[in-house]
Amino acid sequence: MKKIIAIALIFFSMLLTSACYNFNNDANKSSTDFFAMDTYMSITAYGGNADKILQQAKDQIKRLEGMWSVTDKSSEIYAVNHSNGKPTEVSEETSELLTFALDISEKTSGALEPTIYPVLSAWGFTTEQYRIPNDREIKNLLKKVDYKKVSLSEKSVQLKPEMMIDFGSLGKGYASDIATEFLQDNGVSSALLDLGGNIKTIGAKPDGSDWKLGVKDPEGSGNVGVLSVSDIAVVTSGNYERYFTDRDGKKYGHIIDPTTGHPVENDLQSVTIIAKEGRLCDALSTSLFVMGLDKAVDYWRQYQDFDMILITDDGEIHITEEIKSKFTIDSDHKNMKINVITAK
Ligand code: ADP
Ligand code: MG
Repeated sequence: MKKIIAIALIFFSMLLTSACYNFNNDANKSSTDFFAMDTYMSITAYGGNADKILQQAKDQIKRLEGMWSVTDKSSEIYAVNHSNGKPTEVSEETSELLTFALDISEKTSGALEPTIYPVLSAWGFTTEQYRIPNDREIKNLLKKVDYKKVSLSEKSVQLKPEMMIDFGSLGKGYASDIATEFLQDNGVSSALLDLGGNIKTIGAKPDGSDWKLGVKDPEGSGNVGVLSVSDIAVVTSGNYERYFTDRDGKKYGHIIDPTTGHPVENDLQSVTIIAKEGRLCDALSTSLFVMGLDKAVDYWRQYQDFDMILITDDGEIHITEEIKSKFTIDSDHKNMKINVITAK
């Protein structure tokens, strides 16, 4: 029986950011591929025999999945979501991730909305039974959505009745951080983690060169370009791969604008965030996608603790100045205009 896990989404998406690597020397390579958080994941590590460590990293990710699933009755998030307004004790990791999520919600003025689940469900994204809810239904559901009403005191979480938390926007990023830390603590100094398109690299490639990570073309099957980076996380969000289409061919994607209760419709096709921490990349790729181009650029100017590549619906690339030198545009996309975002 298919287990529906809502911390990721419904059907397998092609990876938004793909790792396109070629290794000449695979002698010391260990890798594991598995399905978790409703997506395909792979971890590849180099040096020594990392097989056992990779299995343990995988177990860690599965453990986090078990804690954060919205549908698994034994998960912590399930307990929080069904506590009828009563406080619920959660683990250190869940409390840490929720603290982080609420902080980004605040900084993005609610573009990151970890309580959007009831609206997401109404559109059918959690079951693949897609439908277009009417305005009244959306208005009523939005009453159950408000990160400001989540109260967290140390490890005790309390929601208003009928509210629900969903870590779909940032759980994979956080999982990549936990797995990275575990691998590094166990001596891995070169690895590539691909958690359903949430990419994390440990160190450089075994030959000392940068990893080559493709940034997907939101309109086609290839990449618009390649990032050459080390020791970094890279995460992309967009509404072009997990979506449904209505009779008129209009697309509805799985990232919801919390101000309207509708799938995001703006001038962006995709947002790629590049930073040390996977959790920051994952949270910001989703929320800056909600914000649209101008607000995303304003946000970057305010914080500047990450880099980003935005692809707009008119086929232009907006890239922060630091990362530009690490980005090579694909030969098939040389006609795309590149705008460099500067600090001003
Ligand atoms: P993916 O999970 O495909 O990598 P994202 O990281 O962008 O993509 O997360 C999208 C998921 O986040 C949705 O499937 C849903 O579970 C949840 N979500 C949708 N809209 C929002 C939002 N505005 N804020 C927070 N979470 C959201
Ligand atoms: Mg995200």
